[in-house]
Amino acid sequence: MRELRVTPIKNGTVIDHIPAGMALKVLKILGIGGDVTSTVTVAMHVPSKAMAWKDIVKVEDRELSAKEVDKIALIAPKATVNVIRNYNVAEKHKVRMPDRAVGILTCANPNCITNLREPVESEFVVVGKDPQRLRCKYCDRILEDVAAAIV
Ligand code: ZN
Repeated sequence: MRELRVTPIKNGTVIDHIPAGMALKVLKILGIGGDVTSTVTVAMHVPSKAMAWKDIVKVEDRELSAKEVDKIALIAPKATVNVIRNYNVAEKHKVRMPDRAVGILTCANPNCITNLREPVESEFVVVGKDPQRLRCKYCDRILEDVAAAIV
């Protein structure tokens, strides 16, 4: 059974099952701001059998990097990524919450070494997945707002 409510695109990526209200954060992760060079379609507050309400983001002529998928997993742990090639779903996979988030989140502790010394890359250990909890490897601070901390 398909519950995807998307009009066909030739090539690109459809990110489905984004928690309602998070679509704009996903766009931010993808670096999509005011200047877009490809067609981007955002559907917000779409009825979903699996999660009541969801958002969907569709980006034409673009596939996601592994790092982008990791970032999306942090704010949308149930998202599915559909890669469309020549009007067909060439790949479909659920995002997977990484065990570690390296270089994609900033620590909220201003005295953390990752904020004081530029070459030190931030690293968070995922200590809980549901509910999600991430702990800074360097200062042990628990990240409160994951969406706001994404680089
Ligand atoms: Zn820290």
